[in-house]
Amino acid sequence: MHNTERLKEMFYEVQQCKKCPLHKTRNKPVFGNGLPDSSIILIGEAPGYDEDQTGKAFIGKSGKLLDKILSACNFHRRKHVFIGNVLKCRPPQNRNPEPEEVKTCLPYLLEQIELVDPAIIVTLGAVPAKTLLGKDFKITQQHGQWQLWQGRLLMPTFHPSALLRDPAKKYDAWEDFKTIVIKYREKVDASHACQFV
Ligand code: SF4
Repeated sequence: MHNTERLKEMFYEVQQCKKCPLHKTRNKPVFGNGLPDSSIILIGEAPGYDEDQTGKAFIGKSGKLLDKILSACNFHRRKHVFIGNVLKCRPPQNRNPEPEEVKTCLPYLLEQIELVDPAIIVTLGAVPAKTLLGKDFKITQQHGQWQLWQGRLLMPTFHPSALLRDPAKKYDAWEDFKTIVIKYREKVDASHACQFV
C-alpha cells in the first residue's frame, strides 16, 4: 500500500480508536497534519482544548507561536512539516499522559514516522523526548543536542507552551531551531533561504 493511502487509512482508524480510556473523554482525536512526504516531523505531547474541539494539531496559542517560529525558519506547514503528537486524544484537563496511554497510542506515531520518513524529527517538550529517547532524558539539559533515534536524526527542543509559560526559554528554543535550519540545508535542501541563519 502506498504511504499516503496507509496514512489515510490510519487517520480513519484513529477516528474510531477505543484502545485506551481517553476515547471516552475526547471530543475529536487529532491524527496530525501535514504533507505525507514532509522532510520534518514535529512531535508534541497531546492535543489541548482547541485541538480536541477541531481535530487539528497545534492550532491554539501554542500552535500560533509554533507557526511564528517555523515561519522565521522559512518552514511552512503545507510544505515542509508534518505535525502530530504522542497521544492522539486529549487527556482530561490537559493532565500528563499516563504511561499506559502512551504505550497504547505509540504504535500510531511510530508508523506515522515510518510512513512520512522525515529527514529530521523534532520533539517538542519532555514527553515526546522521553517517549522516544528514554525516561532519563532531561529536556532542560539536553535540548538542542542532535540525537540518533533508530537511525534518524532527532532534535529535542521545548514545547511552545513552555515558551509561553517561561519566555526566558525562547532564546534557547530559537537557537535549537537555527540548528535545525542548518541541518535541513545539509540533508534536504542546500538552497533553503532563511534570513536569520
Ligand atoms: S489516545 Fe490513542 S490509543 Fe487512546 S483512544 Fe486515542 S487514539 Fe486510541
